[in-house]
Order: sequence, then C-alpha cells, then structure tokens
Amino acid sequence: MPSSSSTKPALTADAPVRRLAGVGPKVAERLAGLGIHSVGDVLLHRPRQYEDRTRIDPVSALLPQTSAQCVVRVEHAEVRMGRRRSLFVSTSDGSAWLGLRFFHFGSGQQARLSPGTWLRVFGEPRAAGYQLEMVHPEVEVVADAEAGHAITPELLAIYPTASGVTQARLRDMAAQTLALLARDDFWPELLPADLSGEALAMTAREALQRIHRPPEDTDLAALIEGNDPAVRRLSFEELLGHQLGLRARRRQIRADRAPAMREAGRGLGPLFEGLGFSPTGAQRRVIGEILADMSATSPMLRLVQGDVGSGKTVVAAAALLTAVDNGWQGAFMAPTELLAEQHYSALTGWLAPLSVPVWLLTGKKKQDEDARQAIADGRPGVVVGTHALFQQATEFGALGLAVIDEQHRFGVDQRLALRNKAAKKGRVATTAHQLIMTATPIPRTLAMSAYADLDTSVIDELPPGRTPIKTVAIPNSRREEVIARIGEAVAAGRQVYWVCTLIEASEKLEAQAAEAAAEDLADRLPGLRVSLVHGRMKTADKARAMNAFKAGDIDVLVATTVIEVGVDVPNASLMIIENAERLGLAQLHQLRGRVGRGSVASHCVLLYQGPLSETARSRLSALRASNDGFAIARADLDLRGPGEVLGTRQTGAATFRIADLVRDADLAEAALAVADDVLAYHPREADALITRWTSAGENYAQV
Ligand code: ADP
Ligand code: MG
Repeated sequence: MPSSSSTKPALTADAPVRRLAGVGPKVAERLAGLGIHSVGDVLLHRPRQYEDRTRIDPVSALLPQTSAQCVVRVEHAEVRMGRRRSLFVSTSDGSAWLGLRFFHFGSGQQARLSPGTWLRVFGEPRAAGYQLEMVHPEVEVVADAEAGHAITPELLAIYPTASGVTQARLRDMAAQTLALLARDDFWPELLPADLSGEALAMTAREALQRIHRPPEDTDLAALIEGNDPAVRRLSFEELLGHQLGLRARRRQIRADRAPAMREAGRGLGPLFEGLGFSPTGAQRRVIGEILADMSATSPMLRLVQGDVGSGKTVVAAAALLTAVDNGWQGAFMAPTELLAEQHYSALTGWLAPLSVPVWLLTGKKKQDEDARQAIADGRPGVVVGTHALFQQATEFGALGLAVIDEQHRFGVDQRLALRNKAAKKGRVATTAHQLIMTATPIPRTLAMSAYADLDTSVIDELPPGRTPIKTVAIPNSRREEVIARIGEAVAAGRQVYWVCTLIEASEKLEAQAAEAAAEDLADRLPGLRVSLVHGRMKTADKARAMNAFKAGDIDVLVATTVIEVGVDVPNASLMIIENAERLGLAQLHQLRGRVGRGSVASHCVLLYQGPLSETARSRLSALRASNDGFAIARADLDLRGPGEVLGTRQTGAATFRIADLVRDADLAEAALAVADDVLAYHPREADALITRWTSAGENYAQV
C-alpha cells in the first residue's frame, strides 16, 4: 500500500473526537467530561438554547437584557482608564447610539474598529447612563450597511459547555460534523421502514440537522423542552437502541447454563409449617414464579418488587431452601451489616430446624474462617453477608443461587460481580440463578427501561392484619408533646423508634446526634429503657441492641438511618423521624416501613424544622397522603426525576443523551412495543442501533 498510507481514512461517527480539526488532547479530555468521546457524540450533544439571528434590529428598538443583532457604524473608539481599562467604541445606525465595551482587547482589534467601519454585532445590551451598551458583543466587520443587512437568517445553537471548551469551539465542531452528514455512509438511517407513526416523521439526519440548525420558523420552546418532532424522533431511536441493548444482553445471559433445580424431596412444606404464619397468596405466586425459573437450565434473572413489609424475606428463603435441597449453595447479599445480621437470624430460625447450614460472613477473618472453608468446599448451605464481603475473595464451591436484597442500594456492577462468581460443579461451568429484591417500586416504563434484562414479579399484597400507619407532620416547636406521646405509647406496651438524621452523610456526626438524642430522651423519660444503635458501633454491639429491642427489653430505640432498610420488629408501633424535611421520599417511606408490622395501629411522626421548602412540603404531604409504595414512587419520580429514583450508581442504566423517561414515557412505550420485532426481522439494524446508542454505557459490552 504505497500511496494510500498518507491519506487518513474517512471520518466515521465512532472515530475519536480528536480527529476533528482544532481538537487536541487537552480539549478532548475536557470534551470527555461533556460525554463527547467520538465524532458522533458531537451530534448528540444537544443545544440547550438558541440565539435568534434571524433579524437585524434598529438600535432604537433594543431592550436592555434582550439579545439582539444590529448593523452599526463605528463613530469613535478610545481606551478608557476607569476602574478597569477598557476599549470603548461609540457606534450608531442612524436611529440611536450604541456603545460597545471590551475589557480584553489587543492592538489589532483596536485598529479593526476604526471610525467609519461597518459592523454587525450581536449581544445583550444593558443600560449605561443614557444609552445602551454591549459588553463583549460578537463582532463581524462588514463592507457597508447593505452588506451588514444581508444575513442568512439563523437560529444559532448554544451548547452546554465545560471549562476549557468554548462555545465557539463547540459550534465549530458541530459545523464540521454536520458537514459529514452529507455523506450517505456517515449517519445511516437505522429505523426499519416498516415502523410507523411518529418514528418515521423524519430521518435521523434530518432530525440532527434540525436540532443543531433549526429553520427560521421553529418553535424554539418546543425544541428546547424536547417536544419538537426532531427531538422526539431521536429520543425514540435512543429508547429503542437502549431497549434492544438490554434485550440482547438478556439473550446472552440466557445462553449461559445454570443448574436446573427442582422442588426436591421434602418440598417447601416443612419451611411453611415452621413459619408461624401462612404465606400470602402473593408470596405463594411469586415463589411459584421463582421456582419455575430455577427449574430451567438457563439462569434466572428475576426482580421481585414488594412494598416494605410485604414479606420478601420468606420468598427468598423458599428459593434458597430449594437451591440447598438440590445440592447447591445460596448467597444472600444485603446492603448493610445490620440487615445482613437480621437476615442471618431470620434464616437461621427458619432453615436451621431443617438442617440447612446458614453462615454469616462478618468480615472478621477469624470468625469467617470456618464459613469460608465450608463455602469453598461446596457444602450445600446458605451464606449471608454484605456486598463488600462478596467482593472479597470469597470462593464458592457450588454457588447456585444469588439473592440480592434491596437492589436499589446496589449498582449494576455489583450485581454483575456476584453473577461472575460462576459456580463450578463437576466439570460444567455454570452461572448462578439470580433473584433481585426491591422495596422501591418503579413505574413500568422506567422498570422496563432500566431492568429490561430482568423478569419481574410483584408481591402486591401485605400480610393480613396489618393496620395502615397514620402519619403526621409536626413542627419541632411541639417536640415536648411528641416526647409525652412516647411515654403513653410505652405505657400501653408499645415500642418506639426515634430516628436522627443529618444533612451531611457523616456517620460520625450522625452518631453524635443520636447519642445526644438518646441522652436527652433518657433524661426526660425516666423509667423508660432507652438504647442506641448507629453505624459507628461495633457489629456485635449493634446486634446486641437490636436483639434486645426485638426481645422487648428496650422501650425506645434511638437510631440513625442505619435502620432504614429491612429491620423488622413487629411490636414497634411508633416512629419519630427527626428533621424529616432533610430526607428523600423513598428513604422516608423505607424508614416508616419499620412500623406497621404488627396488628396494632402504628403511627409515624415526621418532626420537622420549619420553614419548609416547597419540595420538602410536597414530600411530607405525599407521605401523609399515602402508605402505598407505588404511589410514593410515582410522586418521587415527579419530584426528582428517574436518574435519582434509580440511584445514581445505576446511571449506566438510566441516563440518556436525548431521551427523558418522564417526558418521553409514551415513546418509551412505543419502543418497548416494537423492540422484539426489530430484533427478529432487522437484526443488522438492531446491532447498529445498540452500538450507536449504548456504546458510551460500556457496561453492556461486558455483561
Ligand atoms: P420486606 O423485606 O418485604 O420488607 P419482611 O420479609 O421483612 O418484609 O417481612 C416483614 C414481616 O412480616 C416479618 O416479620 C415477616 O416475618 C412477616 N411476614 C412475612 N410474611 C408474612 C405472612 N404471610 N403473614 C404474616 N407475617 C408475615
Ligand atoms: Mg426486606
């Protein structure tokens, strides 16, 4: 190849952005912060605003603080010394005077702006004395007034920038990339022509052209807010690409082999008999769905959604018992140590009588030694721990099922880490079945867009005999009253949680606040047994406090938000959450879920420090209005947006370049509806769509 070596290959959309003129390594690094890695990413970097360059206004018609474009003649220019040295240029278009002021200028610029020169200027005028002036306007020298007025009307894109990347640079990059659109092979149309409706209103190229260079008559508000057909066209394609990626990933996982597990020998009867209660219909149904998955030779990937207190642990226990009865190991991963402890004691209570070994990984080398040995040897049994413990070098001899509790606390990668601890038994390498449990219900489109790789079961029924929790919001000024109520509740045989919260996520400060609150309550409520649990305590001390509370030996448990998830003490029926205005909805709902677990009426007091912000007020009233996790999740979604609801660590699954799951919920539905057909009938386009829209997510590649 002698001669061709000197010509660079033609630019493709996936070429690194450095291939564009004017983009060096420094700029490229900055651009990465804006999510721009490839040439194609430049096109997907959506303008946040547009400047109206469609008209020339007479200076006499200018308004302060309103950007405008004028054609003016320089009358006079001088350097003024004032507080800051500046170049001041007096101009006029015959209708009025306009001042231009530059704080940064060189001799070249000064020479360019000599009297008699015609300029086209764009900027935001501000009042300065009796006239208007523009500070650092965009200036273009033109031949004369007529030439100045001969503009190509334009709505000029303004891009989100980052430090070290100027607006001019981004515009130039966009111009280079838009020019590439003229090439047929640059941004090929990928939506199959047999789709219908809005999806085909225009091609992807037309849509890109329109968002970067909207025609003169465009409704800019719609374009900015994302209701313009061009944005919707691209959003739809992105949602579809994302959906296809999730489905492809799922197919790949299904192609793995997992151990088929049957309801073995004794079945679940002995477990249910030992519970002391009868599983609800919803629990039985979900257990059935899980066991059906586990009996297959491809790995289960199932998400169980169930509101706080719906009884997910029993469901997990049934799955774990089935794994063990089939000769495999089951792992139960909890988000906090406290919860791991609690699951350990619940599972031991249920499974030990059935001669199923249950091990707790504590993170303490000595204590864990025996457990680790048994696990490495592949002894059938159940292992409980936090994700940190699973990430350490835990060797599973025969991992057949992994249960991940409170999924919203984990990221996708942690889920994967556990999955990758592939079980090896005999000579067949297998993948463990996976069961994911969450109390944070998410609306369907959101769930499908974030977890389309999972099957879903919903526990839509609470155990019988629960009375709904009454929730009230009370200002801190009435704290005395609330404390008096604790006394009454305890006198009536109830137990009480007092939860301390802090703004900073500092365990240390939180622990101090809890200690102070515990002392204060003990002082004011003599005769009551007040105890404390927080994240800085030793694991054994935490467990001791929890167990004493569970056994009824403590009346008031003062706690930090460590008790947020999963803690289960049915006799506790009053919860006070201090500074409730500081917490998010989902967290408040989780916390509140610690009460309302027994048959007596429970109360939750949201003690707040006024004045409340608008959002804080909405949060507290959403909580007062409903006990239903789904309703609360919807309110949460409205207040916070999907990225946050799914947890920042899961952004890989929930961030989009153009689409917005709330705004584009209808498009998400439409994408879900056609995804399977596109995969089946247009596999090549499907692959290309996945690459175009998910390559930045990277995590698909490894899954
Ligand atoms: P979740 O994890 O879904 O929030 P848990 O599994 O902690 O809920 O269960 C909450 C409480 O309800 C526990 O005390 C559990 O033993 C109890 N429970 C679970 N299922 C039932 C049922 N069918 N009937 C009565 N109590 C139940
Ligand atoms: Mg739970």
